[in-house]
Amino acid sequence: ASVNECFDISFKVMLLGDSAVGKTCVLVRFKDGAFLGGNFIATVGIDFRVRETPIWDTAGQERFRSVTHAYYRDAQALLLLYDITSKSSFDNIRAWLTEIHEYAQKDVVIMLLGNKSDMVAERVIKREEGEKLAKEYGVPFMETSAKTGVNVELAFLAVAKDLKHRA
Ligand code: GDP
Ligand code: MG
Repeated sequence: ASVNECFDISFKVMLLGDSAVGKTCVLVRFKDGAFLGGNFIATVGIDFRVRETPIWDTAGQERFRSVTHAYYRDAQALLLLYDITSKSSFDNIRAWLTEIHEYAQKDVVIMLLGNKSDMVAERVIKREEGEKLAKEYGVPFMETSAKTGVNVELAFLAVAKDLKHRA
């Protein structure tokens, strides 16, 4: 029997956003929480297959982009990240959402995350700006920190609840 049969449901989740916003760190933080001491998976009964897309920061862009589009079609949920200390990563969220609407499943669960919330001195994007953008696109929003762990599990939990409703 596969490990997967231990769980009620399994979902594919993809982390998106510009290079260096913290996708890998958020994923590592979530997995550590889930497997070391946390009881997220047991509580929610969901196995997440999370992956990060190799986009925009990768050599051979065009080839990777077409691979990425196949990932989009596969994903049931997308966590879209910017870095609260990087205006360009925030400005690029609109382009990411355009791409999502073009390639993702129509009923995909999307969540916007403003990461690196621990970097208070370097912040350039206010929480309200993130909230406003999320509202404009009708997606939920949270600020997270992969460094301290703030809201990382909560973000996945919110996505899990949304997915479970639809399953
Ligand atoms: P990715 O390219 O989106 O996968 O970004 P990474 O996860 O590799 O992170 C890029 C850089 O940002 C690394 O130096 C991380 O240590 C740092 N970083 C990621 N998340 C956070 C965070 O929440 N807070 C702080 N202070 N640094 C972070
Ligand atoms: Mg990465």
